[in-house]
Amino acid sequence: MGTTNSDFGFTVGNRLAGGQARTGVIRTPHGEIHTPAFIAVGTKATVKAVLPETIAEAGAQAVLANAYHLYLQPGSDIVEAAGGLGAFMNWAGPTFTDSGGFQVMSLGVGFKKVLAMSTDGIQSDEVIASGKTRLATVDEDGVTFSSHIDGSKHRFTPEISMQVQHQLGADIMFAFDELTTLMNTRSYQEASVERTRRWAARCLAEHDRLTTEWAGKPYQALFGVVQGAQYEDLRREAVRGLIALGADGGRSFDGYGIGGALEKGNLGTIVGWCCQELPEDKPRHLLGISEPDDIVLAIAAGADTFDCVSPSRVARNGAIYSRDGRYNVTASRFRRDFSPLDADCDCYTCAHYTRAYLHHLFKAKERLFATLATIHNERFIISLVDRIKDAIDAGTFDEVTGQLLDRYYAGSAETSR
Ligand SMILES: [Zn+2]
Repeated sequence: MGTTNSDFGFTVGNRLAGGQARTGVIRTPHGEIHTPAFIAVGTKATVKAVLPETIAEAGAQAVLANAYHLYLQPGSDIVEAAGGLGAFMNWAGPTFTDSGGFQVMSLGVGFKKVLAMSTDGIQSDEVIASGKTRLATVDEDGVTFSSHIDGSKHRFTPEISMQVQHQLGADIMFAFDELTTLMNTRSYQEASVERTRRWAARCLAEHDRLTTEWAGKPYQALFGVVQGAQYEDLRREAVRGLIALGADGGRSFDGYGIGGALEKGNLGTIVGWCCQELPEDKPRHLLGISEPDDIVLAIAAGADTFDCVSPSRVARNGAIYSRDGRYNVTASRFRRDFSPLDADCDCYTCAHYTRAYLHHLFKAKERLFATLATIHNERFIISLVDRIKDAIDAGTFDEVTGQLLDRYYAGSAETSR
């Protein structure tokens, strides 16, 4: 059961003295992930604009794709027929799929816009972005939603999410959870944590059934997802509820995801509450973060892996991460700048191209821009996490992360003037 499975396991390496930060190794049927690690996002079974070989060369150890998107297009049955996600997209290493819960609900209510709104004084369970029609409705059994592609009606339940994710065949899957926003009322958050726990139990049962039914396939690990928004008691309760599911000798989760609305100001605190309750010997994945300060806080609080679409998404819009902060290579001051995107970066783009060339590609709307900028940004975040990992091993976490962040945010303040 759980991490004793011969195809999947997690070993803690070094722990930072007096803190929660740790290194480790996640073992999957498709290889190891040395943690802490940034997981590259390939939503539709591709890291946009970049070859799998190139993303591997940039240091990515694993790729995370999206169950909701692949279920709608091309269909999880097609990915299964291709031999699973890794074979379909030509990625030999470990893969993750998320449950689809976030996309089903966030695309359904224009959640990204809702997240960007101020939460001051607003408390409502009918949260929806202005100009949006509600495309998703939640009931006790699951979620009914309309496809963002063609408006067709679909239904996800915990069982269906597990069936879809088993077809997709990723090494690590996530339980189907209900997503709330910071604006939901406290009583709704309480009910939602309970519902997510009931859904988690159904996910485990269905996962157990499918694992037995498809015993010949490589083992797929299942992570439970911790919700509870910004409330300490709900977060801790949510973790205990998920752990209790395996306590009666049944199947328990192989790891845990920390999900839901996280206010930037208390991200480290919330991750800390969860990690204090979570078992030491199972990996912890923080869903959807990528800013350098958030990554440092999350690792310090005990998280092992992270994913975020941001490095490649902002790259396509011209935003470049560098050791001296994030800047926009589309600005006219880079027209004649023949230095690399980041002088200290070891990526393919920085070895062969200049800011002036990237600036030109963007202005000329050349597709190579997206490829080169994505390689650099992915490498930046991956190597940032790798440097932090080395610092945990060396016992120099505070010095190293302090220097990294000081330089990054000093530079950001400089370039935003
Ligand atoms: Zn670079």
